[in-house]
Amino acid sequence: METNLTSFSHVDAHCHLDLFPAVEPVITQIVTESICTVSVTNAPFLFRNTQTLAERSPLILPALGLHPELVASHGDQIRQFRELLPQTRYVGEIGLDYVTKDQDNRKAQERVFTSILGWCADATNKVLTIHSRRAAPDVIAAIGEHFPGTIILHWYSGSLRDLRRAIKSDFFFSVNSAMLRSESGRRLLQELPHDRVLTETDGPFIHEGGAPATPSCVTSTVDGLAKLWSKPPIDVQKLIQQNATYALLPGHESQQ
Ligand code: MN
Repeated sequence: METNLTSFSHVDAHCHLDLFPAVEPVITQIVTESICTVSVTNAPFLFRNTQTLAERSPLILPALGLHPELVASHGDQIRQFRELLPQTRYVGEIGLDYVTKDQDNRKAQERVFTSILGWCADATNKVLTIHSRRAAPDVIAAIGEHFPGTIILHWYSGSLRDLRRAIKSDFFFSVNSAMLRSESGRRLLQELPHDRVLTETDGPFIHEGGAPATPSCVTSTVDGLAKLWSKPPIDVQKLIQQNATYALLPGHESQQ
């Protein structure tokens, strides 16, 4: 399904809308503040619910996912994933998470991730938001240098060396407030070409001001980037709009 979204003020390229205990005020915020929001899911059986949320506004882009940390418990939903994939252009949260030392678990994650990447490559037009905690080298290698589709590394926290490989492969990077708060995160952000940066909240997992981050918190990330890059916030906002139009809405560039 294609989106008919053509303009927006801000971007939350990775948000778990379905995990907010009270989603109504969050949807109101998205609509009122015109925030293009990629609503990721952690397992295929949750996707229908996300599609229902997305029916509320063209600003909400529904993503089909199978979170690496849920592969051990929900890996058998991979078949359902494949069946649902033609229903959306957006895929996530997917990826690898090597916090677990369990080799069988890691192998299962790799099998799932590789299958999903293969189906997305066949489709050629998918937009993928990808988790890579402690697994950046394997994630980047699995995707390859010429992936047919849009790759967004969400909350990248790997090495500078791997970051440079990912940049060379034309990946995008969605950046959140936690990255701006950490020394290593800021170091990575300084390395990123500005035209590859998107904003995200990873709400409700990240907290801001003592409460779960909601899509409107991306404005503080825009301000943080503006400071880091010594640019006016309005310029950074416009740049991220452009980047998001290119990354999230391929084919809509001329309509911005
Ligand atoms: Mn997430």
